[in-house]
Amino acid sequence: MTGLAARHNPSPKVLSRAEHPISRRLLSPNTLKVLYRLHHAGFLAYLVGGAVRDLLLGRTPKDFDVGTDARPQQVRQLFRNARIIGRRFRIARVQFGEEVIEVSTFRRGPAVEEPNGEESADALAPEVGNEDEYGTPEEDAFRRDFTINGLFYNIADFTVIDHVGGLSDLERRVIRAIGPAGERFMEDPVRMMRAVEYAVRLGFSLDPETAAAIGEHFREIRRASAARLAYELSESLKSGHAAGIFRRLWEFGLLTEVLPFLAFYDAKQQELFFRFLALADGVHAQRKMCEEALLALLLWPWLYKPLSQAAEGGLPWGQLEAEIKSRVGEMAQLLAFSHYRGHLVRYGFLYLARLFQEPRSPRKALRMVRHEAFPVAMDLLAVQAAFDAQAARVLGAWREILARVKAGQPPLPQRVTRGGQFPRRRRVRS
Ligand code: ATP
Ligand code: MG
Repeated sequence: MTGLAARHNPSPKVLSRAEHPISRRLLSPNTLKVLYRLHHAGFLAYLVGGAVRDLLLGRTPKDFDVGTDARPQQVRQLFRNARIIGRRFRIARVQFGEEVIEVSTFRRGPAVEEPNGEESADALAPEVGNEDEYGTPEEDAFRRDFTINGLFYNIADFTVIDHVGGLSDLERRVIRAIGPAGERFMEDPVRMMRAVEYAVRLGFSLDPETAAAIGEHFREIRRASAARLAYELSESLKSGHAAGIFRRLWEFGLLTEVLPFLAFYDAKQQELFFRFLALADGVHAQRKMCEEALLALLLWPWLYKPLSQAAEGGLPWGQLEAEIKSRVGEMAQLLAFSHYRGHLVRYGFLYLARLFQEPRSPRKALRMVRHEAFPVAMDLLAVQAAFDAQAARVLGAWREILARVKAGQPPLPQRVTRGGQFPRRRRVRS
């Protein structure tokens, strides 16, 4: 029996269909299909986690997660399009084209999530002997991180079930750890980052006990695996609220624990750091930036000066490359980047500097556009273009080149660069 569920055992608060705004029309058709198939096979089928929270807030959920008392293998038997993933906890992922619905069997805590995609996928492996990891719906609610994330929507009768006090916290707009915050953060330090992320993203306040526990335990974040930290940072960068989230993470001391190099930014670099994030939030609101560009923002302040020096011919390329390599290498290690991701970030920076140089031939322009790091460099350039007129012109020139290439035309129709988009290049030996 988990300590937490044993400690809190009041009957749940249940809202009937008339008492809450979640209608089936707000769920994706595939989610409904999954819920109903489980239900008709005699299993409990709940919508769980962030989707219930978002629907109650009138927001559009990012994705839909399902909780059930069916075992992963039983889920797999019900859905031909299901795969079982997860080393420690097995989850069934039901795939409908682009949409993936994660179906997890109710379990008891303390449970630490593994980031998606980092788990071994092995559908043929037999059920592992973790039967005692499974639990009741109530235990499943209590093993979750925050009260607002512990709500269920039951497809059998359209009720919302609240074991953890999430409904009143949603109303009061508070992020509160389920159970003693200090204990929950010791159990899984990544929850501290998640608390800050939710508070900023939803515009909620942190419950005082939860905030105090972060103040007390922030150094424990170092115990978290690099892969999970990378996942949470990426989620924050993609949220459209990166500037606000990273500011709070910094204030709590969490950010410089995770990325110690940030503590060495001088005032100007710190200002650049937050400016880049705010601009990226703006760029990102219009179209998605690639993940490598978003991650690159975090160390851009280190490289900003050498990059512009190199672009203007004031720094040999070899020196720039060495600098990029060492900075990106440090971050790659802290966040366990794959080899390929490290490569994309490195070349993203290098190409950012190269973009400022007039392509010397159509062939060179084509090679540039086709390089795998070109989109990373272009995303960074788009951020820079928001405050730098020269960068904006260069961005425009490359967008034109790209459009021509996509249309099957030669990349350099006339001397596009004569318009002054590219700075004059001084020859530098490297
Ligand atoms: P988002 O809108 O970012 O997807 P979410 O709440 O759905 O928010 P997920 O990371 O998708 O967040 O996790 C789904 C659910 O799993 C959460 O709502 C929460 O109930 C539970 N959960 C996730 N991570 C943890 C954790 N570290 N500890 C406990 N429970 C967690
Ligand atoms: Mg989610």
